[in-house]
Amino acid sequence: MEDKIRKLSALAMGLLMLLTTAAVLTFFDVRAWSDVEPERAQEQTEAEPEQEQEQDMDMLSGMKLLDSDVSTEEQEILEHQMQMELPAGVGQEQIRVENDVLHRRVTINIPRIAQDYYFDHPLRGSSTHIDDLQLGSEYGGGVIEITLDKVYEVEAKVEDSWLYLDFIPPRELYEKVIVVDAGHGGSEPGAVKQDIYEKDINLGIVLELKKILDGRPEWKVYYTRTEDVHVSLNDRVQLANLSDANLFISVHNNSTRTGEMSDFSGTEVMYDEEKAGEELGSERFSTILLEETVASCGSRNLGLLAGHSIYIIRTSQAPVALLEAGFMTSHTELNLLNSSDYQQKVAQGIYQGIVRAVEEGF
Ligand SMILES: [Zn+2]
Repeated sequence: MEDKIRKLSALAMGLLMLLTTAAVLTFFDVRAWSDVEPERAQEQTEAEPEQEQEQDMDMLSGMKLLDSDVSTEEQEILEHQMQMELPAGVGQEQIRVENDVLHRRVTINIPRIAQDYYFDHPLRGSSTHIDDLQLGSEYGGGVIEITLDKVYEVEAKVEDSWLYLDFIPPRELYEKVIVVDAGHGGSEPGAVKQDIYEKDINLGIVLELKKILDGRPEWKVYYTRTEDVHVSLNDRVQLANLSDANLFISVHNNSTRTGEMSDFSGTEVMYDEEKAGEELGSERFSTILLEETVASCGSRNLGLLAGHSIYIIRTSQAPVALLEAGFMTSHTELNLLNSSDYQQKVAQGIYQGIVRAVEEGF
C-alpha cells in the first residue's frame, strides 16, 4: 500500500515537473562562466578576460528537466551516471561524446532528437555532480552539454535503446594522474627573443614529453594545451585541482630581469615556499624535477626559486613545479632551446623527474 502511495506521489511529482518545465520552455538559459580573475604574476600575466564560448544555437537549461525522482538503490548509481532513452533505431555508433576536461564540459550528440524530445524523455540522473545542463538541437540532432563539478572520464554505453553515461574520477581508473602545462599560448607569447616565442618552445618541449608519456597508459596525463591556444590561468590550475592530480608540472623558459641578452644561463624550478617542508609536496617534487632536468640537459643548476606569488603555484592543491628550462636571453641557450634535439632532452629530464617522483610515492 505504502509502495502504491509512493508511486502515486512520484507520478504527481512527475506531472508537477512537466508543468513547471512548460514554464521553463519559454526562456532560454545563457551560461555565465564566472571565472576567478587571477592576479598578475611576473611569469604569467593574464592579458584578456575569459572568452565566452560562441553559442550559435538556443540551448535549454536542463537542470529542472533532470529526473532525479528515483529509488534509493538507484540514487547511488545515478550520482555518477546519467541515463536517457534514445529515439528508435539510434545505436551506440551514432552517438558522439566529447569530453572537454579543461572546461569539464561533456557534449553528447544524438541523432533524431528535436527540442521537444527532452520533455517526453527527460534525462535521469542526480544533479550532485552537475553544475550545468544544457539541452539543444541542431540539424535534426540533439546536443546535450553537461558541465561537471570535477574532471571525470566519461564512458558511454547503449543498452536496450537507453544511453548510459558513467562519470568516473580519473584516480579510480589510473595509477597516477598528471597534469602538464605548456606555459602561455595564443595571444600570450611569453618572452620573445630574436623572433622566437617562449610559448612555442614550451609547447615543443611538452609535445616531446607527450610522445614519451603516451607510452605509459597506466598514467592519465591531462594537457592544458597541445596547440597554440590561449588558456586562462584558472583553467590551467583547475585542471590539476579538479582531477586530483598527483603531480602538476608547468613548463616555461626564462629571461633576465631586464630582458637584455646576456651570458647568464641555466635551469631553475619554482615551488611553493609556503608549503616548504611538506612531505611529498611542491618543494620535494621541484627538487627532483630540477635535478633530473639538469642531468638530462647538462645545463647549469640554478636551484629552486620561491614561487608562491605565481597564481598557478599558489592555488595548486597538487604538488606543483614550474620549470624554467633555460634562459632565452642567452644566445647559446636560446639556440639550444629552439632546437628539437634539446627540447627532447628537456622532455626526457621531466619524464625522469616524474618517474622518480612516482617511485618516491607521489
Ligand atoms: Zn613563461
